[in-house]
Amino acid sequence: MNLVNFRFETDADGIATLTWDMPERSMNVITPQVMEELNQVVDKVASDEAIKGCVIVSGKEAFSGGADLTMLQGLRDLYVKLAKEQGEQIAMQRFFDESRKLSQLYRKLETCGKPFAAAIHGVCLGGAFELALSCQLRVVSDDASTRVGLPEIKVGLFPGAGGTQRVSRLMQTGDALQMMFKGEQIKALPARNSGLVHAVLPRDQIVAAAKEWLKANPQAKQPWEDPKFKLPSNKVHSPAGMQIWPPASAIYRRETNDNYPAARAILSAVYEGLQLPMDLALKVESRYFAKILRTKEAASMIRSLFVSMQELNKGARRPADVPASKLKKVGVIGAGFMGAGIAYVTANAGIEVVLVDKDLEAAEKGKAYSHKLVTDQITKGRAKTADRDALLGRIKASADYADLKGCDLIVEAVFEDPKVKAEVIAKVEAVVGPKTIFGSNTSTLPITGLAEHSERPKNFIGIHFFSPVEKMLLVEIIMAKKTGKKALAMALDFVRAIKKTPIVVNDTRGFYANRCVGNYIREGHLMLMEGVPPAMIEAAGKQAGMPVGPLSLNDEVAVDLAYKVLKATKAQLGEAAVDPAQEKLLAEMVEKHGRLGRKNRKGFYDYPEAGPKRLWPGLAELTKNRLEPELVDMEELRHRLLVTQALEAAKTYEEGVVTDPREADVGSIIGFGFAPYSGGTLSYIDNMGAAAFVKLCEGLAKKHGERFKPNRLLKRMAKTGESFYGSAEKKAAA
Ligand code: NAD
Repeated sequence: MNLVNFRFETDADGIATLTWDMPERSMNVITPQVMEELNQVVDKVASDEAIKGCVIVSGKEAFSGGADLTMLQGLRDLYVKLAKEQGEQIAMQRFFDESRKLSQLYRKLETCGKPFAAAIHGVCLGGAFELALSCQLRVVSDDASTRVGLPEIKVGLFPGAGGTQRVSRLMQTGDALQMMFKGEQIKALPARNSGLVHAVLPRDQIVAAAKEWLKANPQAKQPWEDPKFKLPSNKVHSPAGMQIWPPASAIYRRETNDNYPAARAILSAVYEGLQLPMDLALKVESRYFAKILRTKEAASMIRSLFVSMQELNKGARRPADVPASKLKKVGVIGAGFMGAGIAYVTANAGIEVVLVDKDLEAAEKGKAYSHKLVTDQITKGRAKTADRDALLGRIKASADYADLKGCDLIVEAVFEDPKVKAEVIAKVEAVVGPKTIFGSNTSTLPITGLAEHSERPKNFIGIHFFSPVEKMLLVEIIMAKKTGKKALAMALDFVRAIKKTPIVVNDTRGFYANRCVGNYIREGHLMLMEGVPPAMIEAAGKQAGMPVGPLSLNDEVAVDLAYKVLKATKAQLGEAAVDPAQEKLLAEMVEKHGRLGRKNRKGFYDYPEAGPKRLWPGLAELTKNRLEPELVDMEELRHRLLVTQALEAAKTYEEGVVTDPREADVGSIIGFGFAPYSGGTLSYIDNMGAAAFVKLCEGLAKKHGERFKPNRLLKRMAKTGESFYGSAEKKAAA
């Protein structure tokens, strides 16, 4: 055998060990070469009489993250090329054949006549877990890092290498569907309890146990090869099956709003596959897989949530000529809501933190937030007391700016008041060295203006976190006019160290993310004032693919904050920059009714002590307009809610605030949950085509006002047929 990505050896008992350990990669992934080598191994195990069985193990810290998704991108390209050169039918046949190769390889392994076992430590996901599922035995380590799962849905795909068929033959149908719809990662014990794996053992015993089992069970077959095999939830067309399938369809709709073709394909592949013998079932799954792989949803999600996100995480926007900095000490000024979270994520990355507030009590209060977060982790069994001690040991709460000496980076998160910020900048610069970078977490104040208070504007940059800091993946890095490349490099090194995803944008009011999401909230407000029933507004948001409705979202970020931003915009840009209907609504909500949002349990919703939140009945009194529910065009509501955000993204692109479509897209999905199936704000426009998008905007502008008027860039794109990605690629190539 000619193996590069695996080591293969056979012991005296005739049990082979296949160690997956790809050179020059930190994580094993499935590539065409891995598939080819695995095929050689299956042939060898099947044909060599001295070999009784084979255990597959990883030579790395984790088993494998799954398939290399760029391989699937390559398949799509092949299809386009063949369709052009040899016609649709030949292209489709080849595409189908190629896209089911992994599934066929696993089936060959499963039926080769000798048993295989997977000994899993660390993550084993996607195509790698499908490999494990085709083995007759799965033993996993009891380590906290061990997780199995099929997360394909998160990039618009579904498990197409037998996953839908094997999981639904191992688990209750409802659980199997749920697991695949959510793309959940399952820990060792729950995986065993649900029947996905056979045994959980200490890490150093998994291989030995697998070998013993193979030795004792040389004839082992998969349960579904047994003619007497019974499905865990019984036959599809049986009284038991009828308990499952009608609600399954309802759950599918509730969870996905029918926005994800891949989720629908899971439902169909399981429903149809469970009625067939395995080989045919796998063929059905393959047909759906080939179809899904060609959808624009899968293409856009793979591009944004896998390829682009990886590129951004690896520093696509980092100036290459600045050496990497290893941050040792970071100062966080302001230990309030945001500062406390920033201190936590920084200390959690092993970096020393000085957390400064006006007095020690306030600083300690901020530090206590880290105590709370790790304690929650301990309660859930995800951390140990020692971890908490170590993390808290890295945070020094202080009221003394002198403690900031020696910091590589400062992140300022004090009150949103230019005067307070100016004071802080001066105080910090009086103690830190000339190389220290200063990042402001302001959400509304232009960074260039703040940098005027700095003696070292080259070192001054925006580092904009989203709340809650410990959960939100996005960090917006804002370049002021004079920001230097060392500041950018350091900010990006910091974001990388704390394992978040950065986008780099240029300075403007609201930067990128808040401009787009602010429009989403405003559209919800305006709909309310038009008399659209509030429940329909919220439903339209979710149906469009947003995580929560616009009114809900406003409650989360605070209604008074929205009002404050509106007033500040009006003061700076004049009367015309704000919508009078929105102003009236916010003024009434905040000033007249004291409805500030979730924080005081009174916003667009009521938040009773017990029970779920409910839309506030008083909303009906805020406007005289009433639209009959039957006459409300839900599709138009959905369009309005997405178009207003995508159009704003296009405007930021035209203005040079966002300069890379990848950043606009990734930032929109992980920053504010913009309909992930679309691939992000600019992919949404590209997929529709600029001409169709402009037409949609013009129709909405006619009916709902100027705010929907397309910008010049879009109109030009509509004429020339350009796309955001097409132009960016051309620019990169030039
Ligand atoms: P906050 O009021 O919770 O915290 C501000 C903290 O700064 C307080 O603890 C206060 O005591 C402290 N402070 C004030 N003046 C100080 C000084 N001179 N020296 C030291 N500490 C001082 O506010 P927050 O919500 O954490 O917001 C902080 C910053 O983050 C603001 O610029 C805000 O725009 C920005 N931001 C907020 C959010 C959000 O969702 N809240 C999101 C992104 C960015």
